[in-house]
Amino acid sequence: MQKDSLYERLNVLEDRIQNACDRAGRERSEVHLLPVSKTRSPDVIAAATDCGLNVFGENRIQEAMAKIPRCPGFLQWHLIGHLQTNKARHAARIFDMAHSVDSERVMDALENACAACGKVMPILLEVNVAGEGSKFGMMPEEVVSVVERADGLPHVEPVGLMTIPPFANDAEKVRKYFRALRILRDKCEEQTGIRLQDLSMGMSNDFEIAIEEGATWIRIGTALFGKRGSPWKPTE
Ligand SMILES: *Cc1c(COP(=O)(O)O)cnc(C)c1O
Repeated sequence: MQKDSLYERLNVLEDRIQNACDRAGRERSEVHLLPVSKTRSPDVIAAATDCGLNVFGENRIQEAMAKIPRCPGFLQWHLIGHLQTNKARHAARIFDMAHSVDSERVMDALENACAACGKVMPILLEVNVAGEGSKFGMMPEEVVSVVERADGLPHVEPVGLMTIPPFANDAEKVRKYFRALRILRDKCEEQTGIRLQDLSMGMSNDFEIAIEEGATWIRIGTALFGKRGSPWKPTE
């Protein structure tokens, strides 16, 4: 992808983010853009870096492990996909933050892996707000106790909640799930006294609604990089 077309898409995206912030009476600086670079090559990421982007989201450990060493060293990487616990040690090494801590088991695996490499990782707990059987994520009623446990662990730091709402053709239909995540966050903060500043919610199709409902991280793939192909693999 050419830097120019990426730059144009980023400008369009920035306008939409700003407009959503204006509608919600929020500052642009409260909303972080997480470009989702899954399936994209290091060349595309280099072009994005030239446009001023320096933090990226990846969902597969294997792809991220091959890709990250081929990208500029100053970039930050966020995990946004389900983590198999046997890959936690890789995740701890290559990621700076995890949005997709979808069970206590994954949290414990990350805690142990981060302890082994001597780092503290900010984590968001992924919540299955709609209670869909097919989805990763903890149930809303588990969240208070998991946040309390996370707070007691020395190598993970709970900083917020994340959700992926059920699919809907009409983005307006997902507003209630974003709102539910924010209300859950507020309730959790009140019950635990633990600050959970981050709400990771909103993707290419629904980020404006997520911003209106309080998102602090929007995870954007296709609106920035175009249609996705299969996972990226090194050629040699
Ligand atoms: C792929 C992915 C995204 C980005 O999706 P787009 O619709 O392309 O913006 C966001 N969040 C997660 C967890 C993803 O897996």
